[in-house]
Amino acid sequence: MTILHVVSVSGGKDSAATSILALETQPRASLRFVACDTGNEHDNWHGYLAYMESTLGITITVLPKRDFSEQIARKREYVVKHWPRKGCSQADIDRSVRALQPTGNPFLDLCIWKGRFPSRKAQFCTQELKTIPMVEHQMGLIDSGQCDAVWSWQGVRIDESEARRARLQGTGACVKAFEEQGGGIYTYRPILRWTAADAFEAHRIAGLEPNPLYLQGMSRVGCMPCINAGKDELLEISKRFPHHIDRIAYWEMCVGMASRRMQASFFPDPDRDAHLNKRGIRNMVEWSKTKRGGQLVDWIRLTEEPKACESAYGLCE
Ligand code: SF4
Repeated sequence: MTILHVVSVSGGKDSAATSILALETQPRASLRFVACDTGNEHDNWHGYLAYMESTLGITITVLPKRDFSEQIARKREYVVKHWPRKGCSQADIDRSVRALQPTGNPFLDLCIWKGRFPSRKAQFCTQELKTIPMVEHQMGLIDSGQCDAVWSWQGVRIDESEARRARLQGTGACVKAFEEQGGGIYTYRPILRWTAADAFEAHRIAGLEPNPLYLQGMSRVGCMPCINAGKDELLEISKRFPHHIDRIAYWEMCVGMASRRMQASFFPDPDRDAHLNKRGIRNMVEWSKTKRGGQLVDWIRLTEEPKACESAYGLCE
């Protein structure tokens, strides 16, 4: 039986550590390194993948971007047919149909199609932009006869977040490091019980520098921002990478125009009672400058220049 080991690469420390482990334990000819381009990555994403390739001596295949043109076309038809019965004015229907156009950016087009941004409870970005293309790619390897089975290596750690610990351990659920998915695909999570320090230690041993975004206050890299970014991380992004805030503000306008509510917010409102006009990335950035309760502006924090090293993992120590 021919097995191919397909390692999912995100540009972050956990997938890099998983790549290093795969290189140490499996024959090189059986390894494939694959990444998904969501269209919401930081500018350095491709550069860091290129650095990983040259340092580790590997090739990373970036899968073709997902195309949501057909879904958006079907949504246009749905809006024309069904929105009048939902009490929408013709002006709102015309506005939405004009906005329901593909842009070629998968993350933005996905949100235009859905009429909203993903959230922690509805994290459809991962499913649509990463899981589906990755599974299709792996099925293609089997269907084309390149292998009989695929081990899908995933750099997932239980320790990664409180939510994941609670979800996977607090409930007593059994997290499996290895499980069969069907169709010849097996999921392998070799660093499930590693700590973040273990992941960085693997980098050190392999001579691979971690993604420099960790030294700039980011606790997660890849999407910029990720919908799961925290308050401090958002403040850091606004100071260091304001053009990404501008881009998300523009995306909010595009998605809002396509939606029935005529507004869309990248992050959920921290204050559920806030008026609609307080939502949106720019208001969230203002909120990120506040202390607990969102009232007091912490001017000392605000006026500090971004430090050279703000690593959430203590890399500067
Ligand atoms: S926004 Fe976050 S959760 Fe969604 S695809 Fe990007 S990294 Fe994953």
